Amino acid sequence: MVIILLGAPGAGKGTQAKRIMQEYRIPQISTGDILRAEVEAQSDLGKLVKSIMEQGQLVSDDIMIQIIEKRIQQPDCRKGFILDGFPRTIPQAQALEELIQKRDSGRLKVIEISVPDEEIIKRISNRRVCRVCGKDYNRLFHPPPPDNRCEVCGGDVIQRSDDTEETVRKRLAEYRNKTAALVDYYEKKNRLYRVNGLQSIDQVFRDIQTILERNGP
Ligand code: AMP
Repeated sequence: MVIILLGAPGAGKGTQAKRIMQEYRIPQISTGDILRAEVEAQSDLGKLVKSIMEQGQLVSDDIMIQIIEKRIQQPDCRKGFILDGFPRTIPQAQALEELIQKRDSGRLKVIEISVPDEEIIKRISNRRVCRVCGKDYNRLFHPPPPDNRCEVCGGDVIQRSDDTEETVRKRLAEYRNKTAALVDYYEKKNRLYRVNGLQSIDQVFRDIQTILERNGP
């Protein structure tokens, strides 16, 4: 099964992707995490995308499609995968379609987690993350330990450089301008399911499970 999680930054895609990964044993592919690892490693790609990401803009379709093409060829993706942060534009969605055509593409499900903008801004400006293991914290719901050492691995808990209110507003604008069109795109293809992202993390996950375990498109 190929699962696409759609939703604005901060809607809960990463949190839910991790739970789906544990429950269904298919890998989470977060393009944001892949790019952040390149930036951290100061690779050529990382140097190219650093300022684009810091400005809350989208990296080019060509680069993103190449990254996904390479990643989904890995053996752990054979039974399926969860896409978190890809596709973000119509050309990315079209390229993905070609890449997964050889698979049982009847098993593609697209889940939109919807959350209003003001809630997104509140969530993201309070979001913190461990720079070593990627564990998510939120000062409102699940604050990091007072010494900012990750409770899982002891790494530094930081604020992502693109999680400031100013950049979040730009990322939301990118979402509305370029990514929201994918909701229509997949609806027309009869692949889209919607989940209310204002519910508790557990309830959102239960709704996702119901969708995944339902037969049909
Ligand atoms: P995320 O962690 O998914 O919010 O992604 C962080 C940043 O990485 C985004 O604001 C973009 O700059 C870049 N990015 C991640 N995925 C994509 C994508 N599919 N297309 C273009 N840019 C992306």
